[in-house]
Amino acid sequence: MIKQPQADLIKWAFDQFATGTYSINQVRMMTVQKELQCSKNNFWKILHNPIYCGIITVKATKDEDIQYVKGIHKPIISESLYRKVQLLLKSKRKQRESKLQTKSLFPLRGFITCPFCERTLTGSTSQGKHKKYSYYHCNTSKCKGRFRNDFLEKSYESLLKKITLPMYMNFLSSFSKMKIYSQLEEKH
Ligand SMILES: [Zn+2]
Repeated sequence: MIKQPQADLIKWAFDQFATGTYSINQVRMMTVQKELQCSKNNFWKILHNPIYCGIITVKATKDEDIQYVKGIHKPIISESLYRKVQLLLKSKRKQRESKLQTKSLFPLRGFITCPFCERTLTGSTSQGKHKKYSYYHCNTSKCKGRFRNDFLEKSYESLLKKITLPMYMNFLSSFSKMKIYSQLEEKH
């Protein structure tokens, strides 16, 4: 099955990822430098594939669930190393998911500043007695800037609605005048 130099590189990649120091892509780049030709997609598949610790995946059929059986081939890595890597992959996946969730929960995050200290507001959710509460808050604990997300988003929305078309046109025309002036200045 897997040729020896490749097998060594795959084991090396599992070892590096298991240290927890590097991302999947960092390990892939390091492995590619050691001359394992591998796309992003395939490298991801390698780290998830139990075949390297001697376990063969039998695909699910309409009658049977997915099955894992011990192969007769010599494993490249130990089962404990494989499991350690799977746990790390799972926790990295969770981190990524929660980051994405934060992004969609707080659409104004990074766009609005704290009225007290003018730092950019970030968002987080805390568990109350009965439900979760989401807040936009200051990045530093020294500042008391903290606002309920629904309250802030509603006021932002009504502010946007107040910006009328004439105001917008005014803004645009003064903006383009400025642009023209600066272009004229550049020419002279
Ligand atoms: Zn603040």
